[in-house]
Amino acid sequence: ATSNATLMSRRNQAIPRGVGNIHEVFIARGENAEIWDVEGRRYIDFAGGIAVLNTGHRHARVVEAVKDQLERYTHTCFQVLAYEPYVEVAERLNALAPGKSPKKTLLLTTGAEAVENAVKIARSHTGRPGVIAFGGGYHGRTLLTMGLTGKVMPYKKGFGPFPANIFHAQFPNLLHGVTVDDAIRSVETLFKNDIEATQVAAIIVEPVQGEGGFYIAPPEFLQRLRALCDTHGILLIADEVQTGAGRTGTWFAIEQAGVEPDLITVAKSLAGGFPLSAVVGRADIMDTPHVGGLGGTYAGSPLACAAALAVMDAFEAQGLLKRSQEIGERFTKRLKAMAVEHPIIGDIRSLGAMVAIELFEGGDPSRPAPKATSFLLAEACRRGLILISCGTHGNVMRFLVPLTASDALLDEGLDILSQCFGALAK
Ligand code: PMP
Repeated sequence: ATSNATLMSRRNQAIPRGVGNIHEVFIARGENAEIWDVEGRRYIDFAGGIAVLNTGHRHARVVEAVKDQLERYTHTCFQVLAYEPYVEVAERLNALAPGKSPKKTLLLTTGAEAVENAVKIARSHTGRPGVIAFGGGYHGRTLLTMGLTGKVMPYKKGFGPFPANIFHAQFPNLLHGVTVDDAIRSVETLFKNDIEATQVAAIIVEPVQGEGGFYIAPPEFLQRLRALCDTHGILLIADEVQTGAGRTGTWFAIEQAGVEPDLITVAKSLAGGFPLSAVVGRADIMDTPHVGGLGGTYAGSPLACAAALAVMDAFEAQGLLKRSQEIGERFTKRLKAMAVEHPIIGDIRSLGAMVAIELFEGGDPSRPAPKATSFLLAEACRRGLILISCGTHGNVMRFLVPLTASDALLDEGLDILSQCFGALAK
């Protein structure tokens, strides 16, 4: 019979080591928030394919919509022959985007590609070269997005040189001593030391840093960034690849700060497990690039568009935005109880169902605990719970459970997590 071990050894023979693997498990089947591996073992999925499965594995509506699409046509390249699902996804995202100004949407395939295109559009609109991103931020693995990413290991090491005209400011992080004032001042310092404000096309920010550690941007910070951008004619890009599509309790996280960004990137859960990304933005800005300047062979694939429409329907039919809030509250309550017993849980934070805990030796924020975090991930996997980490020090455990998971399943997963902390304490 096939085993995880034999498949892993074939994998290691055939695939470069640069493609890491958190868990040595090969999936055979997935259903909502549960997975079965090739040896028949069941797991609860708290990772959701890194924020891709807000509607779970194989949501019935998604499966049906994709099957239906499969029966008609699967590819034309939108620039050659157009199709309605692309238009409908764009219309619905335009309606969902925050703010009063009319919107337009460009569809692509990956998150990195959406970020690349947002920068292209911002440069085309402003005629300026510069882009400011934030330390600890993550925007992708292509050359431009790697340059924007503010985290050397594992993303940038040895892969330079990076594109010019990219600068990094500080992301506010009270837990680690960076105030909103510090962060805003660091942007203003870039204007003095590195690039004049009139040469900056865009500031790109994650409303909640994802790979960087699930740090939530205070609403005041996003509001002040908006004001700073307005002062200098700079475009504000919200990278909502991880926060978007309902993860944080609103369709886009930045809505909660009352800020209208000029451009938003979204991907991951947008199409419930199919590759689709988008740039949603102010219509006048989106229309700046010349005819033929934007696109891609697979960009806005019909199968992925059909899936995205089903995902948006599922959000409405199942009240998943509200469910995201509930899940965030349920997790926070249980995690707080665990923290009482296990002081290694030094911080608990959440925006809707984007939940994380940060682990410190002796509860001291200056002493990150990456080894304990790895132990807990491996122990949870042995006990049937799939978890992933993040953060510059690898000491943040993040929870991205499908919003369609039942309370009973959430509790079962959290019970396993609690047992893992018990095992760590021994
Ligand atoms: N931006 C953010 C905020 C992300 O979290 C990610 C993926 N983790 C990306 C961009 C890149 O997306 P992709 O892997 O689909 O290229």
